Amino acid sequence: MKRLKNRTLFVLFFTGMLVLGMLFLLFSYIKDGAYWAAHRPAGSITSGEITDRNGVVLYDYESGDYNADYDTRLSTVHAVGDRRGSISSGARQVFAGKMSDFNLITGISTKTERLKLSIDSKLNIRAREAMEGRKGAVGLYNYRTGEVLCMLSTPVFDPNDNAQIEAINSGAEAYTGAYMNRFLASTYTPGSTFKIVTTAAALETVSDIEDFSFKCTGSVSYGDHSITCPSRHGWLNLTDALADSCNCAFGKIANEVGSETLRKYAKEAGLLDSVNVSGLKTAAGSFATTGVPIDEGWSGVGQYKDLVNPCAEMTLMGCIAAGGTAATPRLLCDEGGLFVPKPESSSIGWQASTCARLKELMRNNVVNHYGQGQFGELPVCAKSGTAEVGGENAPHAWFTGFIDSDEHPYAFVVVIENGGWGSKQAGSVAAQVLEAACER
Ligand SMILES: [Zn+2]
Repeated sequence: MKRLKNRTLFVLFFTGMLVLGMLFLLFSYIKDGAYWAAHRPAGSITSGEITDRNGVVLYDYESGDYNADYDTRLSTVHAVGDRRGSISSGARQVFAGKMSDFNLITGISTKTERLKLSIDSKLNIRAREAMEGRKGAVGLYNYRTGEVLCMLSTPVFDPNDNAQIEAINSGAEAYTGAYMNRFLASTYTPGSTFKIVTTAAALETVSDIEDFSFKCTGSVSYGDHSITCPSRHGWLNLTDALADSCNCAFGKIANEVGSETLRKYAKEAGLLDSVNVSGLKTAAGSFATTGVPIDEGWSGVGQYKDLVNPCAEMTLMGCIAAGGTAATPRLLCDEGGLFVPKPESSSIGWQASTCARLKELMRNNVVNHYGQGQFGELPVCAKSGTAEVGGENAPHAWFTGFIDSDEHPYAFVVVIENGGWGSKQAGSVAAQVLEAACER
């Protein structure tokens, strides 16, 4: 009898555990089911495709094939992602969950067969050609709609070529950081592109900044150290100081503004925060405050410890172009009715009059300094940067800005690692990509 009782208790105990387990599973299913569906691995999707904005198929989930064209595959590898998921920000993996719906009764159902990216693969190809094998990032977006038309990170690789993947994994120098989407995930010393922030801070906090007058003799001493320019710029007003990108003048302006205020303006510019690009967070930049005049001067010139993400820089350019508030960059296209992403906007805390004055100054940079000729008829407003990175390494070349036009409302950024002179090297890449973007 006692034996029977023990057995009954034993069975009851396990039945109880089973019921509890099933209740827990049911609870988790209700609570987390939608999350599981939205985060299913790319490998579990067996139909559908990823296309660019023009319907060019970049990846087919059913066959597992990338586009048959070599240049298309290489130029879009960071946007689409690789088979192993080594590129963490690739659409193949990141947006896989968006292809499905979740229902408590019926479970996962297919929502769409097509994931349409906002990028134009032909524009990415053109950007890759213009980069000529150099490492860096190129981005271009419509600051009215937020659609990113061009997103390139170099070096690229062919997701179909195991020898190239092997070379990356074995640390080959030509492929350093090939799995990283530099446009979204990297930060660089901004060099003189940061003078836009310093100028904005000066316009709003230094009352007589428009009367600025300064004679550049090639260097200014701060104790034992000095801020230097590549040449003597002579007498400059604010417009010339920005166009000539005079370090000596901007070191002085930065000291008048003060590093706490500069930091506030870098923060307001969005350069110290992540940009949320269709759910992908960009790397946040940094700006160190300092009470030391020489450091304060260099930080206002975009050196010292300043770091900026290319996508955040591009977004800032869009905001200046649009008078303070612009569409936030996004990678999914709402044409075709697949998803209608919630429209989002990014704002900088600068007055509209400050943005208008910056636009004037940046237009002057192009017309009187970089040369309008390379941009055809396009009303391009821009700022170059030649960011010193220390040691024997050549500086990083930057070129960033926007087209001041309702017909072509594009903001852009180009960074070439160790590329040399910003306006010449990165400016040339920007000119080629802008021409292609406006010809589309
Ligand atoms: Zn100078």
